[in-house]
Amino acid sequence: MSKKKIALLGATGSIGKSTIEVVKKHYDKFEIALATAHKNHKILFEYAEKLNIPYLAITNEKLKSKINTNKKIYFGEDKLLELLNNLNYDILLNAVVGSAGLRYTVAGLRSKHNIALANKESLVMAGDIIIKMAKKNECRLIPIDSEHSAIMQCLLGNSLSSQIRKIILTASGGPFNNWKLEDFDKIKLKDTLKHPTWKMGKKITIDSATMANKGLEVIEAHHLFGLKYEQIEVVIHPQSIIHSMVEFIDGSILSQMSYPDMKIPIQFALSYPERIPASAQFTDITSLPDLTFHKVDYDKFPILKIAYQVGKAGGIMPTIFNASNEAAVSLFLREKIKFNDIYKIIEKSLNKSNIANPDLETILSIDKKVKKEILATANLRELTRI
Ligand code: NAD
Ligand code: MG
Repeated sequence: MSKKKIALLGATGSIGKSTIEVVKKHYDKFEIALATAHKNHKILFEYAEKLNIPYLAITNEKLKSKINTNKKIYFGEDKLLELLNNLNYDILLNAVVGSAGLRYTVAGLRSKHNIALANKESLVMAGDIIIKMAKKNECRLIPIDSEHSAIMQCLLGNSLSSQIRKIILTASGGPFNNWKLEDFDKIKLKDTLKHPTWKMGKKITIDSATMANKGLEVIEAHHLFGLKYEQIEVVIHPQSIIHSMVEFIDGSILSQMSYPDMKIPIQFALSYPERIPASAQFTDITSLPDLTFHKVDYDKFPILKIAYQVGKAGGIMPTIFNASNEAAVSLFLREKIKFNDIYKIIEKSLNKSNIANPDLETILSIDKKVKKEILATANLRELTRI
């Protein structure tokens, strides 16, 4: 395998950090051609020194006048989009959080690059456009989300969609899996940030607690694997060892399992179609807890139900769902609203008429508009900051 050049977007986040560890372990196979941060230039510079990264970008343009360095830094979203067009790299790893990631996925595909996609929001908002563009430009779109990586791995050599009965996305159930519904109005931010099995960025940690994350993943799976929503089932599996399953028409179920460690799906996405030695700890199956599975309680997690509805409706609805969730989560993170308000805000935002086949500009402008409306109601001037 020749050394693969990675454009790593969102290098300073949780997925970014795990990616850096994979690259360090396999420095003979991977190199980082470009790394980006939104705010945290110190960590970015540290990675740049350690891994000899030639191109650096900071997407928050306001920091241009505040960062004192003799390094060449590209500031702002537009400069980064330009770089993604002109730079020499083999794969774009998009680990930006939220709707901000969409334009980068599109830029990578437009310039005919393979994509390792952690930013599930890209597919939720513009799945039809992205899948079409990837096919047209012959780009690989490899999911980093552990569930989708698991499904992709189960489908290697079995990819005929007519042979798939359904896929089963596993969900940990998050920190409130064992809480009673009547206690949900007592939920505090600090309870929500304690994920039982995964260590992740704040936004996805909140999404896991509401199960909005699983909702985004259902829509992501629909686009990635071309399946009907009726063929996508969610099952609670609190131990997070089985990362998802595929049931075939003959009754066989294949699954992929390991300790929960994002380095495994990240490395798979980077080394695909090859497999290379692990960067993560091997799973000792004799020491695992009992593996259990149970149905989702939709009264406790109504946002997941809404996700199926907006996914089936298609058009602009998944964008509104995603934008209202991002805005509500940012308010919750600043303790401006309660946990149960996240659902209420999403439900209220969806009370709009649909737009069929929206283009990219429409998707981006509706995303902004929905967030602005929600934050205006909350008397906050700034746009979502996650
Ligand atoms: P994080 O908050 O830890 O990191 C986010 C990264 O995005 C940071 O590098 C930040 O600088 C950058 N960023 C933030 N706002 C930005 C903006 N407006 N423009 C450009 N860059 C911006 O998030 P994370 O947990 O690493 O998640 C990243 C993505 O991966 C999300 O879409 C998430 O759903 C997905 N994902 C994460 C995990 C996980 O284990 N963390 C698992 C599956 C999928
Ligand atoms: Mg996931």
